[in-house]
Amino acid sequence: MSSSLRIAKPDLDQLVSALTSRYRLFGPVDVDGSTVLREVKSADELALGAALDGSVKAAFFPQTETLLTYDGTVSEAPSGRDKPTAVIGARPCDARSLLLLDKVFGTGKYWDPLWQRRHDDSLVIGLGCSAPLETCFCNLMGSGPFDAEGSDIMLTDIGDAFVAESCTDKGERFLKTAYKSQVQRPSQADLDKAGEARSKALASLAPAANYSGVKTALAKLWDSALWDEIALGCLSCGACAYLCPTCHCFDVQDETAPGTQQGRRVRIWDTCQSALFTKEASGHNPRPSAKDRIRQRVMHKFSYFVDNYGEAACVGCGRCIRLCPVDFDVRVVLERVIAEGRRTKDKERGTKKDVRHAG
Ligand code: SF4
Ligand code: SF4
Repeated sequence: MSSSLRIAKPDLDQLVSALTSRYRLFGPVDVDGSTVLREVKSADELALGAALDGSVKAAFFPQTETLLTYDGTVSEAPSGRDKPTAVIGARPCDARSLLLLDKVFGTGKYWDPLWQRRHDDSLVIGLGCSAPLETCFCNLMGSGPFDAEGSDIMLTDIGDAFVAESCTDKGERFLKTAYKSQVQRPSQADLDKAGEARSKALASLAPAANYSGVKTALAKLWDSALWDEIALGCLSCGACAYLCPTCHCFDVQDETAPGTQQGRRVRIWDTCQSALFTKEASGHNPRPSAKDRIRQRVMHKFSYFVDNYGEAACVGCGRCIRLCPVDFDVRVVLERVIAEGRRTKDKERGTKKDVRHAG
């Protein structure tokens, strides 16, 4: 049975203390005008009201990490894990993205021990999205601003307090042990406020477009001129991939101190939007143009990932729209893909009819 608690905002530190005593805790923090994910030690550091500019993937899949060091002999990098990882304030889209990344790194033939090490025994405390932004479209990607999928505990902001509800057994166990005493149950008025916040958030999201035809449309559009047009609206800067909670490409590089045999092998986030990403040692590049690269990004997220893992690699967080320097909008791309797929299908039907008439 799930528990719910009322946590007055001034008492949030009690929750953070309980978390930091058991976990390495990450949460949204304001840094130079942006809200980014950082390790936190106290509730004062948290910026829970703001939309996170980076994504929560960095808590489990850091932007750079040392795989091994060498100095004539090779040593495995220390695991750096003294405690399991927890995240507080993950929006439902971000919490859900961790489940998608777990499909890539946590299972199957690309199982990744580095991901597993951080993801094992982790705790995710979601924060319901009371005021979705104009760029949010989680509702069109099978989710919603209070979707509990991926969260162990869900917080709902009710003004002077949060209602905390457990969503998994792990979340339930944590709440029970962290709040053995001084447990304050939410009143009916608190629960009503939480319900209102949910309804308001849902109502504020754009009416549901239907992206269910995207994958079928993409199957017909590999050679389409649409990609040339779409590529004109993109600088290939790669910012969208670094900010995206589901993008997971990386590069591995050796950094050797000049004139020595000492160095380290590092894993670094990379992006399919960079021309260097697929450039081979011979100089050949299978994706030489921006058109090839933008097509790869869309195909990977909305077709190949569906083939491999049964759902699209997009949670509708809208970061790539909100933070793109030239306002590239993935929703517009999806609409154009569907429309172009329809046109291609109609053309094929027309051609078949013509052939029958000619016969
Ligand atoms: S869509 Fe925007 S953020 Fe992404 S690579 Fe193109 S210009 Fe950069
Ligand atoms: S593609 Fe854009 S909207 Fe979708 S998950 Fe990535 S950043 Fe969010």
